[in-house]
Amino acid sequence: MKKIIGHLGTILRSYIAAKAPSVYSSAKPAFDTLVIMVTSRCNARCVMCKLWREHAGSELRPETWERVIREARDTGFTSVHFTGGEPLLYKGVYELASYSSGIGMTPAFTTNGLLIDERAVDKFIKGGVYSVGVSLDAVGEEYERIRNVPGGFPHVKNAIELLGKARKAAKLKPYINFTVMKDTLSTFTGVRDLAGENGLPIALCLLDRSSSIFDIEENKSVHWIDSSGDKAALVRLMEEIRSAEKERPGSVILAGSGAGYAVSYFGDPVQKGVPCISSQKRLYISPEGGVLGGCLSMGSFGDITSRPLRDILDDKEFLKAERKMFFKECAGCSCGFSFNVSHHLPYLIKDALFGWREHISGCGSENGI
Ligand code: SF4
Ligand code: SF4
Repeated sequence: MKKIIGHLGTILRSYIAAKAPSVYSSAKPAFDTLVIMVTSRCNARCVMCKLWREHAGSELRPETWERVIREARDTGFTSVHFTGGEPLLYKGVYELASYSSGIGMTPAFTTNGLLIDERAVDKFIKGGVYSVGVSLDAVGEEYERIRNVPGGFPHVKNAIELLGKARKAAKLKPYINFTVMKDTLSTFTGVRDLAGENGLPIALCLLDRSSSIFDIEENKSVHWIDSSGDKAALVRLMEEIRSAEKERPGSVILAGSGAGYAVSYFGDPVQKGVPCISSQKRLYISPEGGVLGGCLSMGSFGDITSRPLRDILDDKEFLKAERKMFFKECAGCSCGFSFNVSHHLPYLIKDALFGWREHISGCGSENGI
């Protein structure tokens, strides 16, 4: 309830914008998070990712990113999220985090964790980093198969243990990113145990097959959860996730309704009834400086190296695209789904009254659900 009150502004603005498209421009929520993809290079080769399959492009210099972060702060952004590829491969990323916190922005990271050691954790803490999300979808050999990193599990396990200790001693808020896909329908227990032993909550990601990072054939044919054949297994996974949350409140970062959304999503990734609110709050910038908006599927709307950020954000083409994102005139992806459902008023009400299963669309008893 406390969380809902804190986000009431975004919830109400989004609801009004969704209900009355003619007032969308004045009602839409404002940006707050700059997401910088510092590099498209990666030291993992995850089965569902496109980035490592492609030739990595150019990267911007740290001085350019400093300017962009400053411009974002002056435009009203309050936090900066470093991601990639693997952001820890970018030389100067810790200094960029320190720079960000020094000018009043809150820095955060999403990483595969393979490069996190004691020194890295120390740099996170000294740099005023708020949160670090580590990708973990399974443990042991299955982790190494999915992330395609032979011998990699002990490294990520060590990273999680170090972050768990840091969580107690410092303000750092580490968490695990668990991707729901066919390969992980039965791997949650191991992740839950490791996360629990170290006091890290788990955030859910759902496999994506349309954004520029994940639009590979295998994500449609091999890793996608079949909405009829695998549906019962998916519901069981969501039940397991919901019980983990009940047993240890705070152990899963997922609004109740997110579990129902996850099940429906694999049958219809657009889920048009739920606006893409997260695309209005965050702004991705590609490693080459392309301003992508809050969506990784619609391409770039300007080059940050040659135009000021404010100019690009005020451009007619950008504003048109932003509107399309909110109303989901898109192929649909899962990016920000948990944020979307936890800020969508009808979902919150339905969840409070009837529970998460109420959000599962096309859920027939023939599936034994
Ligand atoms: S999903 Fe992330 S960790 Fe995996 S290869 Fe892609 S960028 Fe690297
Ligand atoms: S749901 Fe649609 S608009 Fe939102 S991020 Fe995904 S593809 Fe983009």
